[in-house]
Amino acid sequence: MNKEEKQIANGRRDFMKTLAMGSAAGLFGLSANKLNAAPYEPASYAKGMAPVKIKSVKAIATRPGGSNLIVVKVETTEPGLYGLGCATFTQRAFAVVTAIEKYMNEFAVGRDVDNIEDMWQAFYVSSYWRNGPVLNNALSGLDEALWDIKGKRAGMPVYQLLGGKCRFAVPLYGHAGGRSIEEVVDSVKKFQERGFKYVRIQLGGYGGVGRDAKVPDFKAAGFGGEKDNFMDEYEYLSNVPKMFEAVRKACGEEIELLHDIHERNQPMDVINMCRKLEQYRPFFIEDPLSPENTHWWKQLRESTSVPFAMGELFNNINEFVDPMVNHYFDYIRIHISQIGGITPAMKVARLGEWFNVKTAWHGPGDVAPVGHAANLHIDLAVWNFGIQEGAYSFGEKEQEVFPGCPTYKDGYAYVNEAPGLGVDINEKEAAKYPINNQAPGWTVRKYDGTIIRP
Ligand code: MG
Repeated sequence: MNKEEKQIANGRRDFMKTLAMGSAAGLFGLSANKLNAAPYEPASYAKGMAPVKIKSVKAIATRPGGSNLIVVKVETTEPGLYGLGCATFTQRAFAVVTAIEKYMNEFAVGRDVDNIEDMWQAFYVSSYWRNGPVLNNALSGLDEALWDIKGKRAGMPVYQLLGGKCRFAVPLYGHAGGRSIEEVVDSVKKFQERGFKYVRIQLGGYGGVGRDAKVPDFKAAGFGGEKDNFMDEYEYLSNVPKMFEAVRKACGEEIELLHDIHERNQPMDVINMCRKLEQYRPFFIEDPLSPENTHWWKQLRESTSVPFAMGELFNNINEFVDPMVNHYFDYIRIHISQIGGITPAMKVARLGEWFNVKTAWHGPGDVAPVGHAANLHIDLAVWNFGIQEGAYSFGEKEQEVFPGCPTYKDGYAYVNEAPGLGVDINEKEAAKYPINNQAPGWTVRKYDGTIIRP
């Protein structure tokens, strides 16, 4: 028995002795003193004490950076011990707040904070109808908050609990874009100057250029809503290969180029376009198919050799099984604040290791800093990491609301080394930025007004 084990054993003996004496004051005094020399305070169960339980679960809604963010705060019976998780669903933010405060709080109060998997499984089935956004977002927030608490109790950052670091920091890809091919090229060069080795390229966002220059027929006819977007599918399909050609020529072979189709095109059009992109060696092509067209995977995969990334719209981790065992795509695009948190994301990441599928977690602007931190902790710990989306520098307001935000330098992201996920919240500051119902919509139409599925 080494010194440390002896101390723990002595602590246990003292604890049993104290129990026999029936003195609660003695219990805390004796065991705490004896165990102080240990590197980490043993968890309550290891000391034979009552488990730490959930006292309350609440939603904190804020938008310091302009996007509605929802954070779950789990408070415990241990004074000062709480956890935070991201439950953001920008477009339906109030519904998530209701799910947390009207259902999740009642579900969780009194449960043991140690048993993350059990609580995940219990909440998942507690509504019977499951596997949808809103409840999934709430569950993501709870799950991340419980990992945050577990890290704080262990005195370790969450990546340590997941196995420790596989890399010194997390490589990122930036979003380069522009209204013309020249603007896209300039944007890529700026990322290269900043040290980025991976850049996503989009001409005119997701819809291709020209969509704002023309008044589409449906708008001229007064059809649809005022804010509805227009996409010229054929302009998009012809412009993307031209953009790749120009960027490769101007920016060289070393830079890794990514592109997001955003599910908007017809499967055969996607196949034809991807064949043209093969010669430019894309790192991956993202979201080639809408969730309604997943039965096209086999044909798509057999038709082109470009690598694919998919999955940000998946609600349930079971949706990854078939594409993964069939090698339909190469990168996992999980939105961790939507799939149910760190617990299910880790399962998919580990499954990917067996099928040579790598992680590429979704990292858009409408994720709370604590959610970005959850992405990064997994990125650090899994061997089959691919790439991480998100080249941010959090603004002053965001950093005031969320002390401990991840930091970004030379194309890499870093978490701080504080126990847990490392991100805190200042509720007084958060309250200064109330959420609203003005989140951008996803209504995109063709010339004649037909809705395009994003
Ligand atoms: Mg995407």
